[in-house]
Amino acid sequence: MERKWLYGKVMDQTEEEMHPVIDYKKCTGALACYEVCPAEVFDVEEIDRVKRAVVARPENCIECEYCVDACPEDAIELIED
Ligand code: SF4
Repeated sequence: MERKWLYGKVMDQTEEEMHPVIDYKKCTGALACYEVCPAEVFDVEEIDRVKRAVVARPENCIECEYCVDACPEDAIELIED
């Protein structure tokens, strides 16, 4: 019983999911990530008087990296939960 629980914990650790984070020091509000994301991870909000993408639904991410490739400012990276 205990071993099964431990095995479950190990499995949980290997199944960590990735999601994007935006570096707002680099982001210029191009919204490329918002436009290319197939999973509706991003919303658009006004931040410092500029419309920028925000990570609204990280749990939706399918780790395709389209947003990472599309960002002209190299402002997005995927990190583990
Ligand atoms: S990796 Fe893909 S699914 Fe995840 S946020 Fe970026 S574009 Fe969307």
